[in-house]
Amino acid sequence: MGAHVSVPMYRRSLPQRLRLEGRRCAACAAVHFPPLAVCPRCRGTELEPLPLSGRGVIEAVTEIAPAGAPPEFTDQVRADGGYFVAIVSLAEGPRITAQLTGFASLPPIGTPVEAVIRRLYVQEGVVRYGFKFRPRP
Ligand SMILES: [Zn+2]
Repeated sequence: MGAHVSVPMYRRSLPQRLRLEGRRCAACAAVHFPPLAVCPRCRGTELEPLPLSGRGVIEAVTEIAPAGAPPEFTDQVRADGGYFVAIVSLAEGPRITAQLTGFASLPPIGTPVEAVIRRLYVQEGVVRYGFKFRPRP
C-alpha cells in the first residue's frame, strides 16, 4: 500500500516539502514537523512558521528491499534497487522519517546528516519533490 498524495494536497504542502518548514508554538516554544494547527504539548493554537535547518543525526535506520518498497517508488527501485530509510532527529527537536541518499552501506546510529531536495517519484503526472538525508561532513 502506497501513499497517495493528491496534486492539490502536494501543492499545499510545498513549504514543508521543499523548505522543511515546521511550526513553533508561541506558548511553549515546542517545534513541530510536519506543521500542526494545535500544539500537542500545551494545546496552544498560536504556531508560527519555522524553517528548519535540515541538520540532524540518525536515530534509527533500516534497509527497504525492492519487494518491500511502496508502489510510488517502483521506478526508483527498478533503477537503483533497495534503499535506506532513517528516523532523523533534527537540531530543532522534531524527528523525521525519510530516505537516505549518498550512503553505500547502512550508516550507524548517530551519523550526522543534512536534508537535500530530491526528485521522489511521479504521481498523477506530476513529479514529486521532497527531502532525503545525505551524509554531513
Ligand atoms: Zn505548545
